[in-house]
Formats: sequence, structure tokens, C-alpha cells
Amino acid sequence: MTTAATPDALMWITHRPDIVFTEGEGSWLRDRAGKRYLDFVQGWAVNSLGHCPPQIRDALATQSAKLISVSPAFYNEPAMQLAQRLAALSTLEKVFFTSTGAEANEGAIKLARKWGRIHRAGAFEIITFDNSFHGRTLATMSASGKPGWDTLFAPQVPGFPKARLNDIASVETLITANTVAVMLEPVQGEAGVIPATHEFMRALRELTGAGGLLLIVDEVQSGMGRCGALFAHQLSGIRPDIMTLGKGLGGGVPLGALLAREEVCCFEAGDQGGTYNGNPLMTAVGLAVLDTIAAPAFLAHIDARAAQLADGLKALAERHGLVGERGEGLLRALILPGDVGAEIVSRARELEPEGLLLNAPRANLLRFMPALTVNEAEIGQMLGMLDEVLGQVGRS
Ligand SMILES: *Cc1c(COP(=O)(O)O)cnc(C)c1O
Repeated sequence: MTTAATPDALMWITHRPDIVFTEGEGSWLRDRAGKRYLDFVQGWAVNSLGHCPPQIRDALATQSAKLISVSPAFYNEPAMQLAQRLAALSTLEKVFFTSTGAEANEGAIKLARKWGRIHRAGAFEIITFDNSFHGRTLATMSASGKPGWDTLFAPQVPGFPKARLNDIASVETLITANTVAVMLEPVQGEAGVIPATHEFMRALRELTGAGGLLLIVDEVQSGMGRCGALFAHQLSGIRPDIMTLGKGLGGGVPLGALLAREEVCCFEAGDQGGTYNGNPLMTAVGLAVLDTIAAPAFLAHIDARAAQLADGLKALAERHGLVGERGEGLLRALILPGDVGAEIVSRARELEPEGLLLNAPRANLLRFMPALTVNEAEIGQMLGMLDEVLGQVGRS
């Protein structure tokens, strides 16, 4: 028997609980000691179909026996199929695949800057928003409005002035001859699940359209059915110029995408690329995930489960004297009266005999991002477990 692995050789980047997960199925995880956990984090909204879904296992097995990698310098079947499906469903005609969400956003930033060079006399500034999150590369950290990130790893990449979400005047005042685009998350995820209002989305579309600017939506977290529509911006009835996807698109494998209107696409040979981009193994998985999520019955299931989750969280808020809940679809937050988020997360994990995995992106709120395949009983069980933990915290 081999001895159990230890984390000694992993580079330290953050505090992690002393648990090693070994298996997953649907909404459930199992650790090395055999304890089960109901997972409402799902790899940060990544496992759209839950842990180890048959669609992904089948796609990996079938595709890995045919072709794994040919380089982006050649065509392959799954990449072309997935691009055609995404283009048809989004009405954005062109797709470039990446491995991560940050890389898709880097591509969006490059495309906008190139377009600005050609069509807007060298304009390069992209207006982004306070508290936004666009990734962890240097440019996407600079685009992000996360407090403290302006000085971490300074100097920043210039050209990302920050406006306030749902405040159209704050965007208008930042527009200059240097502005080329506005970029936002239709629902700010890391900020604590703060939806851009549908009125704000429409006002932004009008403002950017009238000014000849590009509108970029970062749907890495909000897209792929997470918010009840295939893409969250569709809830406001707008068509962006550029959209980025990640997380739920691969359902657990590294896959992102940059989509753009045909008239915006201005990359020349050599401007953009990447070793794994459009990899047939990953895009075959993306196809399997998209085929499942885009089915009308699946989106109806998300709506029903989202209503159950929202109602259940509202009831808990009333019972325990909390502030309330908010969100779109199966991306929701429960707002707490104080900074007890971390305490609730660890108490929920430590429940016996089964634990509950939750996330607190801000000290005073919990975020819920279950598998989109979550069933009624699992949401009911999660609400019961959370009720117990909120009772413990209230008494202590
Ligand atoms: C997670 C996330 C990203 C970054 O995606 P990675 O795959 O971690 O690079 C970008 N934008 C949003 C809105 C995200 O939630």
C-alpha cells in the first residue's frame, strides 16, 4: 500500500481546510476518510452538470480514443462543431477558444484594443467597474475592480478606468476620445452576486452603440445557464459586441471562449493564438455540456430549482433575522447581518454525518452555485443543514 499523499510540496497560495477529496458524483463529494459533503460550490460554478457527469466521462473517453491535440494551427472537428453551436445560440458569429476565463478576457481586451487602433484612432481604454472580477493575469487583474488589486503586483496594465455598477452617469463621465469599450459581468460574482439591472444593461447598450464603442460582457460565471438563460445578458434583451465564457462551458475541464460579432473581428495572422486553444479533447466536452444545457427542458429545470432556492433562502432570512437574498437563477447570495460568513462556511463543512460546502466571497454573505443539475431534495437538504448552522451561530 502506498502512503497517503501530503500537501508539503504544493506551493502555498491560500488557506485550505484539512480535507482531501477523492470522489464526486452529481451534487456530492467524498473525502479520504469517507465523509460525504453536499457541494454548493461546485468548483466555483464550474461543474455545471455536477461532479463526474456521464456526458463528460463519455465525451472524454470517446474523443481521447480518436484525437487529443493537433495544435491551433490545424482544424479539428469538435472545435468547429462547438464554435458553430455557440455562434448560433449567441448570435455572435465568431468564436476563439481558450483554456481559462482570464485568457478569454485577455483575448477580448486585445481584440478591443486592435479594433480601437483601426477604427477609433488608437483608442484603447476599456471602462470596467468597481468590485468587478475578470481574472488573475496582469491585464485582467488591472481590469478588475477588486479592492487592493490596484497596488498588488504593481505597476498595473494601464487603460481600465472604473465606473460604478448600475450608475450610467458614472460611465458617461469616463468616456473620452481614448475610450474603446465598456466591459462588465452581467451579474458580478466575486463581488457578492450583484446583478446589473436589466435597465442598466440596456442603457449601456444604448450608450456604447450611440458612441461607437464596444460592449463586452464577461459571462465566465454568469453564462451557460447559470442565471436561468443560456447567457445572462439575454435576460435584458441586448446583443453585446463581445462575450467571454469559461467555467460552466467546460463543466470541469479547462475551456473558455471569446465570442464576437463578425464586424468586430480584426485579428490578423499571428495576433492571437495559444498552444491548447480549440483542443479537440476539451471542445468535445464543451459540446456535450452545451447540448445538455441548451435543451429547453433543462433551462426550465434551472428556473424551477432557482425559484425553490430563492424562496428557501428568503424563508431562512426571515426565520433568522438576516438581511435577505438576491441573485439570478442558480447564482444566489444570502446577506448576513454581520461578518459571520467564514464561521458559517466552516461550521457547515464540519456538520456530521454529512458536511455542506458553501462559499463566502464577502465576510457578510454566502454565495450558492450548485450544479445546474441539482434536484429538489438536495436543495431541501441544503436549506435544512443551513438552518441548523444559522441556529448554532445565532446561539453562540
Ligand atoms: C472566474 C472568473 C474569471 C476567471 O476565470 P479563470 O478560468 O479562473 O481564469 C473571469 N471572470 C469572471 C466573471 C469569473 O467569475
